Amino acid sequence: MNNKFFMAFKREPGRIQIFDTTNRDGEQATAGARYGAQSKMFIAKELAAAGIDRIEAGFPSSSPEDFESVRAIARAISSSVIFGLARVPVNLTGKLSYDDIDRTFESVKDAQNPGIHAFSIMFDPPSLKAYGYSRNQVVEGAVRGVARARELIGERGQVEFSFQNAASAPLEWIVEGYQRMVEAGANVINIPDTNGTRTPAEIRNIVQVLRQHLPQDTLISIHAHNDLGLAVANSLAAVQGGADIVEGTINGIGERAGNTALEEVIVNILFRPELYDGRQTRVDAKKLNYLSQIVGEHYGLPVQEHKAIVGANAFRHRSGIHQDGQVKGGVYEFIPPEVVGWTGESFELSARSGASGVRQRLNRLGYEVSQDSARQIMPAFKALADEKRIIGDTDLVVLMDAAAGIVPAYALADMRLLGQDESGNYQVEVSMDIAGSGRVSHKSPAGEKQPINGQLHHGPISAIFGTIDGMVNPDGLHLVSYKPVNIGVGKDAVAEVTVVVSRSPDFDGRIRPLEGMYVGRGRDTDTLRASALAYVDALSKAITSVK
Ligand code: MN
Repeated sequence: MNNKFFMAFKREPGRIQIFDTTNRDGEQATAGARYGAQSKMFIAKELAAAGIDRIEAGFPSSSPEDFESVRAIARAISSSVIFGLARVPVNLTGKLSYDDIDRTFESVKDAQNPGIHAFSIMFDPPSLKAYGYSRNQVVEGAVRGVARARELIGERGQVEFSFQNAASAPLEWIVEGYQRMVEAGANVINIPDTNGTRTPAEIRNIVQVLRQHLPQDTLISIHAHNDLGLAVANSLAAVQGGADIVEGTINGIGERAGNTALEEVIVNILFRPELYDGRQTRVDAKKLNYLSQIVGEHYGLPVQEHKAIVGANAFRHRSGIHQDGQVKGGVYEFIPPEVVGWTGESFELSARSGASGVRQRLNRLGYEVSQDSARQIMPAFKALADEKRIIGDTDLVVLMDAAAGIVPAYALADMRLLGQDESGNYQVEVSMDIAGSGRVSHKSPAGEKQPINGQLHHGPISAIFGTIDGMVNPDGLHLVSYKPVNIGVGKDAVAEVTVVVSRSPDFDGRIRPLEGMYVGRGRDTDTLRASALAYVDALSKAITSVK
């Protein structure tokens, strides 16, 4: 297997490769990407641009949508290996089905650098007993599946193999099993700790033993889960034991407690190279925060404030002693925030903030604000800060829109849910006052799903937004962010919905009010009505700004 392709992604002294499975294992934590294939393509391109070596784009045989999504990503990205996940058969009768492998090959074959990631059922003894399979049946089925994958993909592609939960199988099973897979054509063997129960010393030992028993050019990969909070520690222990590849997801999203958080692994390796024989990844650490933001936005899984490396609080200093130490020489900051692209604010805006702090933040958002005009918006700022405690970027944009005295082009007059058809599609009626045209009403057609950004959904929000689009969004502005929050608690609570619409479908979580991005906000005791108010507000601002 010595050819041009393997020259590019072979084992290399000094190099640790990163395998991202955000769009596959990560997606399993969610009800699906917010915008489906469109989100996955966007995220995959940004992962590749950041230098991620290997991207698992999906599980092609799991659905026709995933097949198409993986195929599109395979065709679009040439700088990373694009993998599809595929099940291998269990050898029960001798006559095996390779449907998964074949379909996965179809989806990745057009890639410049294609990969098939073949995996078996759970390989630890208690699981095999539960399924009623023998070790031998699993291994023999896997041998034939791997051989099939290698036959299809040829010498130019990668074949990775995983025995699910291998980390909990007896060591001799792991060694003998993976030796068979290498003989069958795998060039990467992956050690999944699928149940997330192993510890760093155990993982390190498995990798060291495998390293001694596998050919020198075989790549060894680790796939950890975070059930005991050890996914990153286990992955780093694997690297110390001689692993070549770390698998994981951005923000650690994934099944149950999640996968290995790749940004944490990458920064550990970057800052403590002496612990990893000086080996490095080729990932651009400055892009880690950006990747975290887009994955949080597109999967609808906001990042915890105290998350290492990428959390909003990760580089904030609050206590007086800490702030003093920072000023005297950054003594509380081991990692400079700019190295990982952290763009949060070291000091929060709250009711205690002054006009200069508010002005500085507004300038960063792109507004040119004098000290005088900053002072003028302070009463409105203080009133909002008293209510909301912490003021974010979307709050500032809403304040600035109000200060600019924009007259809305449209106003929501009424919005009613008419009911649901048998397939669960909602029908709504929306009335709006449109400047120059008076009141206009529109009913969404019965029995039809309404599109958001060209994709069909059947929930009430898409029925409302789709109907509004039909009335006042001829340019097809994209909805890029939708966030409902409670203001207050108990019976007095109102829903506040903030939406962002944009001329481009891509959104990295950063608001850019002067670059064709518009923030709308609505409040009501009824969340659906608050949503309609927010959407109409955003579209109205977009139209007004064009004129
Ligand atoms: Mn997994």
